[in-house]
Amino acid sequence: MKTYEKFFLLDLETIKEYLIHKKYFEKDEKLESREVGDGNINYVFLVRNDRKSIVVKQADEFLRANGRPLDSYRSKIEYNILKEEERLVPGFVPEIYEYDDVMHTIIMEDISEYKNLRYELMSGKKFDHFSENISTFLADSLLPTTDLVLDAMDKKEKVKKYINKELCLISENLVLTEPYYDYKSQNKFNKENLDFVTKNLYENDAIKFEVSKLRNNFMNNAQALIHGDLHSGSIFANEKRIKVIDPEFAFYGPIGYDIGNVIANLFFPLICFENCSWLKDCIVEVFDKTFDKMSKKYDKIVEFPLYRVKTFKDYYIKEIMADTCGYAGTEIIRRTIGDTHVKELDNISAEKEREFVNLGIKLIMNRYSIKEGKDLF
Ligand code: ADP
Ligand code: MG
Repeated sequence: MKTYEKFFLLDLETIKEYLIHKKYFEKDEKLESREVGDGNINYVFLVRNDRKSIVVKQADEFLRANGRPLDSYRSKIEYNILKEEERLVPGFVPEIYEYDDVMHTIIMEDISEYKNLRYELMSGKKFDHFSENISTFLADSLLPTTDLVLDAMDKKEKVKKYINKELCLISENLVLTEPYYDYKSQNKFNKENLDFVTKNLYENDAIKFEVSKLRNNFMNNAQALIHGDLHSGSIFANEKRIKVIDPEFAFYGPIGYDIGNVIANLFFPLICFENCSWLKDCIVEVFDKTFDKMSKKYDKIVEFPLYRVKTFKDYYIKEIMADTCGYAGTEIIRRTIGDTHVKELDNISAEKEREFVNLGIKLIMNRYSIKEGKDLF
């Protein structure tokens, strides 16, 4: 009889015993287990019978893709932020049952009724509710975690609790360094575009100046508890609602990083597929509704007298807008020419690649003049 006092990697058999031990199922029940994870970092198991199903996400102490060590504390961070989001935006994340500190497992609700937004968009599905739902998630989950709202001492404790060194380093490298300074020689793009990328990114001091500011801001602006990896594969949707998963890159960082990621990842299907033209309106709505809701939320929850001054509020939101556009730009560029592409961009033409890079550059360079969704185009 296992006691689970020492970490080991679960498999399709041991996961059943584990959930029986944890009392999610009775002994001798007939159970079916599957691995549903598709990432290259963690393991996600689904265990079910006729009565119920349970999902377990286990973080290994090594990276699944290449065996490199990766701090499993990320799993605790993921659990903590999911509990926080569950409280701030009820119903927008899977219900979280428990965390096991030894096994690095998060035991949670099965959300198989929802589908991966990236693949849904690629197959031409339309979600009229998306802008409404994601803007609620963004406005309600981010601002309440800032020190505009939280007690200054509590907020600093949280910053400490959510220090996520290794995962942040991954983003600092892959998103905010390598596309402009390919020191690991791992960028991937169409050979034909080497001169274009060299001229417009590697040797473009104007873009390097702006990206350096965004990089510095990412590393030093502990503004809010952000998801940190809010691409369309971290969002699941059905006909009415969304569920956000996989916040293992969470840390105290700039709010615009999350909003920018959402927006960037809507541009990929919009530009790659003809049947996605509705996404243009959707992008405009995501931007406008998010800032509209954030502004209202601000009036409702920010009470500190200095921050009630309208000029400060306008300044604060304007900075988040600029960050949003800047990080939408860096996300578009890194998914186009960096080491970790997205599915939509598999086999795209050299011309489309240049279109994405130019869009990214435009969003970064013009970020302070974008004031509403339609200015993104
Ligand atoms: P990783 O960190 O390895 O990327 P994710 O959290 O993104 O892991 O999960 C990988 C996949 O596992 C998801 O794309 C989804 O298909 C499945 N999955 C994750 N959580 C759940 C859940 N609560 N219910 C159903 N499927 C899930
Ligand atoms: Mg992940």
